[in-house]
Amino acid sequence: MPATQGEFRNADTKGLKERWKAYLNDKRLNVTTQREAIVEQFLKSTDHISIEELLAKVRRRHARVGYATVYRTLKLLVDSGLAMERHFGDGQSRYEVAGDHHDHLICQSCGLILEFEDDEIEQLQEKIAQRLGGFTVLRHRHELYGLCPKARGIVGGSCPNEQSKR
Ligand SMILES: [Zn+2]
Ligand SMILES: [Zn+2]
Repeated sequence: MPATQGEFRNADTKGLKERWKAYLNDKRLNVTTQREAIVEQFLKSTDHISIEELLAKVRRRHARVGYATVYRTLKLLVDSGLAMERHFGDGQSRYEVAGDHHDHLICQSCGLILEFEDDEIEQLQEKIAQRLGGFTVLRHRHELYGLCPKARGIVGGSCPNEQSKR
């Protein structure tokens, strides 16, 4: 199965927003214009967005939103189960809209992040855990770090990211 970006998240933004509202209610948090703008923008994202990237997008319409507000809102989104926090070895926290389980392939040179889900790997991981003392796997993180053909300097080699944008 080819790895593609964003394929795993469905566009049920409405359902996600309802969950967010319920979360705010539950935590007795106020609805604020800035926070809602951040949440709105985040739920639209289909990739692995950093705080700075999200901040830049939100600021196009809400120029006065600050870094700390975006940071705190993302923490709330993680706490509410609507966002997943990811770390791909570049020291940045990245966030993606929570959805179906998937794993990641990361280019260490250009930063491209591809998503994949492979039944064989999933089952193999469970088999290994079973073999090593009968573990039941509750969750896992599977990250492959490498170099895309372009970053490797292959003549005519292209980055999958550029191909998908064509
Ligand atoms: Zn997996
Ligand atoms: Zn992902």
